[in-house]
Amino acid sequence: ELTNPALEGDAELAFEGALRPKSLTEFVGQQKVRGQLQLLLTAASMQQRTPDHILLAGPPGLGKTTLAMIIAYEGNRPLRMSSGPAIQHAGDLAAVLSSLVPGEVLFIDEIHRMARSAEEMLYLAMEDFRIDIMVGKGAGATSVPLDLAPFTLVGATTRSGMLPNPLRDRFGFTAHLEFYADGELELVLVRAARLLGLAIEREAIAEIAGRCRGTPRIANRLLRRVRDYALVHGGDADLAAVHAALELYDVDEIGLDRLDREVMNIVLTRFGGGPVGLNTLAVSVGEEPETIESVVEPFLVRIGFLTRTPRGRVATAAAWRHFGLSNPQAALT
Ligand code: ADP
Repeated sequence: ELTNPALEGDAELAFEGALRPKSLTEFVGQQKVRGQLQLLLTAASMQQRTPDHILLAGPPGLGKTTLAMIIAYEGNRPLRMSSGPAIQHAGDLAAVLSSLVPGEVLFIDEIHRMARSAEEMLYLAMEDFRIDIMVGKGAGATSVPLDLAPFTLVGATTRSGMLPNPLRDRFGFTAHLEFYADGELELVLVRAARLLGLAIEREAIAEIAGRCRGTPRIANRLLRRVRDYALVHGGDADLAAVHAALELYDVDEIGLDRLDREVMNIVLTRFGGGPVGLNTLAVSVGEEPETIESVVEPFLVRIGFLTRTPRGRVATAAAWRHFGLSNPQAALT
């Protein structure tokens, strides 16, 4: 029987939603960021004002959307969710901003992908809670100022370097999310298994934690695949089930997936270890440069397999070793 991909997508989304922590204390890891947010939110609530605008930066799956929701819950504020790609005209943004209620939290995911014309409207909105709406066309066009309800903008981006400075400067606080340590990922997994009613062995949890690219979203997804495996094979969710399920889904022993390995393989074998430029690399693996830069590279850099140099990406000695290859350039020197 074929599964309906749309339904499967919904199930994945529902699963993600169900596992989202609802308070800062339930949110695992990111201790520094949690402390910073706690202070900012508490001070705002003591003074009964809307908290400053907050930018959340970091690779996908580390908890940016979850934190935006927590910021709303903790302050008992309504939450509006939007995204950069959904805001292609200033008018799209004007519609959202003008309908906000006082104190509302506006979450804009992938804020670096918003249209330029909307960005300029956002500057004024963030600073003065006001926008100028253009009425009419050509010589008769006039701008009409419109006051907005005070709101807190929570922007999320996988590429904070892509944000224009005037936008970045208007956030009162930027949180940089880091990849999670294994122990933190184990806590994420124990919690998820409990919520799923899944009995899973301790070593199995530890194994998944070590193979999820430091990312809670991937940890939860792998947990689900291990659960599937145990269900279908009628066994326990144990270490053997983890090994089998992760092998089936092409996750290697240190958590690299197919695309990670393809990128490393191209740098190592086709370009002799680099340097290789981002665009060349993207074309070689058939992905968008943005995907390589914001999804694939951060983890490869973090585990010390890849370095970024002005001339391009370069593989490290650790990468040559992991893939069992010898560096021809090292042999020459
Ligand atoms: P992002 O917006 O950064 O892509 P999300 O906030 O959507 O990431 O998080 C992805 C998934 O990982 C969610 O299901 C969420 O429950 C889980 N998750 C993320 N961070 C944490 C955390 N610190 N503690 C527990 N679960 C987390």
